[in-house]
Amino acid sequence: MPELPEVETVRRGLQPVLEGATITRVEARRPDLRFPFPEKFSQRLTGKTITALGRRAKYLTMDVEGGPMLICHLGMSGSFRIETADGNDMPGIFQHDRSKNSNHDHVVFHVVSAGGGSSRVIFNDPRRFGFMLFAEGPPDVHPMLAGLGVEPTGNTLDGALLASLMKGRRSPLKAALLDQRLIAGLGNIYVSEALWRANLSPLREAGTIAKPGKKAQAQSERLAEAIRSVISDAIAAGGSSLRDYMQTDGSLGYFQHSFAVYDREGEPCSKPGCSGHIERIVQSGRSTFYCRTCQR
Ligand SMILES: [Zn+2]
Repeated sequence: MPELPEVETVRRGLQPVLEGATITRVEARRPDLRFPFPEKFSQRLTGKTITALGRRAKYLTMDVEGGPMLICHLGMSGSFRIETADGNDMPGIFQHDRSKNSNHDHVVFHVVSAGGGSSRVIFNDPRRFGFMLFAEGPPDVHPMLAGLGVEPTGNTLDGALLASLMKGRRSPLKAALLDQRLIAGLGNIYVSEALWRANLSPLREAGTIAKPGKKAQAQSERLAEAIRSVISDAIAAGGSSLRDYMQTDGSLGYFQHSFAVYDREGEPCSKPGCSGHIERIVQSGRSTFYCRTCQR
């Protein structure tokens, strides 16, 4: 499953091609992905100008003139590919390799940019867990987007807000951070990374960082800062790998380089002054990586 920074990198890669472009044709090459395509999917997009390409949690959103808004999820294995007269580009470096097999090209958007250049933006998805749906009304009431928590990007998520979200919760801190109704788009990898940066154990009760007093206040502030920075660092790395990608054909693999704990079981903790080692435990059926020496 792509994580939020991967989705944001895809959005930034598609933005220059799609924003302001006019959709001249849409090919949906099968009736469904995870869900059936909306009725009149192609007809309702053809001829429209794309006014904005956005993101909410792990959903890409495409505003078109006069509506409807397109909501797109990459699922397990979805990716976009841009084909222009000059060549090909796949925006985003993913943790797992992405298919370029044209048998799995399920949707093709033919677009003409504001400057007049033609491109094909192709959605490829071997496992077909991705989807594309229309939001007819305000996007926040769409079933996929309603009830999503605060974004972990930007300055909204501060210590006080994080403490209010965690207050009274008896579940492990890691589980509460993965609850999409509280914080939207934060996934397994980045929760482990953020907890390590904040020196907080994934096993501690979530509510402990919301107790009265200076100690808990410092913990919630540290964790909010760690969440924001781990996500923004990954987006920045994705952005730079995106530029390099065009020269190096995707062999960069920035994810392996930038994780401090994820997938590093048994390795020494890289925090200055810490003599601990990274352990892997399983919480709610998913791997958690942490250092019990510096994360309390
Ligand atoms: Zn450590």
